[in-house]
Amino acid sequence: MSGVPARRSMLSGDRVNRIHWIPGTDQLRAVCHCSAERDFEDPVQLWEWLLSHPDGHDTPPPTVRDVAPSSDRRQEVTIP
Ligand SMILES: [Zn+2]
Repeated sequence: MSGVPARRSMLSGDRVNRIHWIPGTDQLRAVCHCSAERDFEDPVQLWEWLLSHPDGHDTPPPTVRDVAPSSDRRQEVTIP
């Protein structure tokens, strides 16, 4: 591909969200900082999903830091 700048090193960290466009489709793939992935067609829904972490993350991968026994991470959301 011409005109595409060389890939730079990606950011890394605990709060980095990434969005990949899937070439040839209208799909966008959101990759959360917790490494959950989900495909969207609507960028608005994509951002809502990303920013509402961990809501909607149905299959969070286990991470070493998250191994805390008896940690109830239930969130209560109050909708005005
Ligand atoms: Zn997440």
